Amino acid sequence: MNKTIKICLAIAVVLLLAVCVYAGFLAKNIAGITFITTNGEISQAQLRGETYTVTYVYPQYLGVLYGRAYGKVAEVRKDLPPHMSRFVLYHEIYHLQDNDFSSKVTREVRANLAAAIYEPLGFAQTVWSTLCDMGRLKFYWNTY
Ligand SMILES: [Zn+2]
Repeated sequence: MNKTIKICLAIAVVLLLAVCVYAGFLAKNIAGITFITTNGEISQAQLRGETYTVTYVYPQYLGVLYGRAYGKVAEVRKDLPPHMSRFVLYHEIYHLQDNDFSSKVTREVRANLAAAIYEPLGFAQTVWSTLCDMGRLKFYWNTY
């Protein structure tokens, strides 16, 4: 292996570690979250004294989105696989407690990194599913 490749690999490893450390730091913002289940489905999330309503909605209701957060409500598409559904739930709960509205992009990055710590498989599924959905890609391209 030549020297340039070794240096590039070392930089990639350092960057990956930095992202992981940052994700761990962000994940602390939703640490201790508890879920309340009603009729076999999560209906509420509690975090630091706040109670958030969790609703599972039909895909038609959200368009290309997998979830949505507003007020104290987190909506998640009801047709998602379990890990992906859980990842989207963590993502939306992260949004509900994130008061930094300076950039849409960094808000999404923070929510994704924090949620990925709790549901790495769901994160991978979401990334893959997004990359395979041209409508979703166009939405994000036009939105951000
Ligand atoms: Zn989001």
